[in-house]
Amino acid sequence: MSPAPSPSPLLPVFARADLAFERGEGCWLETAEGARYLDFAAGVAVNSLGHAHPHLVEALTTQAQKLWHVSNLYRIPEGERLAQRLVDATFADVVFFANSGAEALEASIKLARKHFHANGQPERFRLITFEGAFHGRTLATIAAGGQAKYIEGFGPKVEGFDQVPFGDLDAVEAAITPETAGILIEPLQGEGGVRLVPPAFLRALREICDRTGLLLVFDEVQTGVGRTGHLFAHEMSGVTPDVMAIAKGIGGGFPLGACLATRAAADGMTAGVHGSTFGGNPLAMAVGNAVLDVVLAPGFLDHVRRMGLLLRQRLAGVVDAHRSLVTEVRGEGLLTGLRCAIPNGDVAAAFRAERLLSVGAGDNVVRLLPPLIVTEAEIGEAIGMIDRALGRIERDMGLALARGAAE
Ligand SMILES: *Cc1c(COP(=O)(O)O)cnc(C)c1O
Repeated sequence: MSPAPSPSPLLPVFARADLAFERGEGCWLETAEGARYLDFAAGVAVNSLGHAHPHLVEALTTQAQKLWHVSNLYRIPEGERLAQRLVDATFADVVFFANSGAEALEASIKLARKHFHANGQPERFRLITFEGAFHGRTLATIAAGGQAKYIEGFGPKVEGFDQVPFGDLDAVEAAITPETAGILIEPLQGEGGVRLVPPAFLRALREICDRTGLLLVFDEVQTGVGRTGHLFAHEMSGVTPDVMAIAKGIGGGFPLGACLATRAAADGMTAGVHGSTFGGNPLAMAVGNAVLDVVLAPGFLDHVRRMGLLLRQRLAGVVDAHRSLVTEVRGEGLLTGLRCAIPNGDVAAAFRAERLLSVGAGDNVVRLLPPLIVTEAEIGEAIGMIDRALGRIERDMGLALARGAAE
């Protein structure tokens, strides 16, 4: 990866590849020079329906000609419709729209705290979270995620988050105090390394919450809206949360997040206590509804599950063929991870050299997150690229070894 040209007017908070795309179609991205890349990054699980999906383009352009934005001082019928569809499809009774994952989490955290405040227990404001979590980059969500590299240097950590080891039920029980309001968890950690929380663990958390009156809050920003082959990942466990944050895939590339909750959990959220200028505006709502049109259509989630299975099967073959470089295939549906034996950045760079885009994750994992519309043929192409990329690394390492021996 060559460094970005300097001096750049952009705040250098991203380590960017020196690569810019001009257009996209389906699972493919194209540079201004016409180089085509197979996009198994999908904007980090955002482009759920790929690029320039005709139904989304139609919804966005039609809405753009009518009305972009009105404030939440007025009713927004498209938003009422999207909220109703999310309610009909889930555990939730009410929805709050925001513009990003972190904002959806902020709303969820505030809602959980306000619930206890409204019910005469204002001392209960703390949430239990898990090591390896990622909940966003605002002050509260970095505190919730608990990763030192994101927290350090930004002043006092926001109070109210108690982190326990991943998958440790005893630690959860031990962390509950009279100040605890709830438990916040990703049913499958994305940034943390494509780590699935066992369904039995989610069921145990539900049981703890029911027994102690805590709220169970799921972060499905990355796992939601079909990514795992289910509309929401928690459906695999058979339990439902009280509160859930979603974003990424629901906008298909348009900035859109939402906090979903039961009416009981949301009972503290009355007029004036929370808000957003842009959240739920007509453009975003038109796109969100268009995404649901496709994802909720009969057979769509079957397709995601089938493609996910195929991708994992083919990746298992890759692991067999390149054991010194990649060791394990993880994931559900099309949220897939390949655990690496060499630095995951080197593997992702080798993929990119073959014109396949992927995303790094914790635990030395490379994520493969194709648009949910990916075809069998495109998975076949990706596997060919992966095989060639890993073969090239092996040859380069072999050459280096041979050189070392010769010296
Ligand atoms: C991406 C992500 C977020 C943050 O979303 P932003 O839109 O970047 O604020 C939160 N939680 C999870 C699980 C995510 O994957």
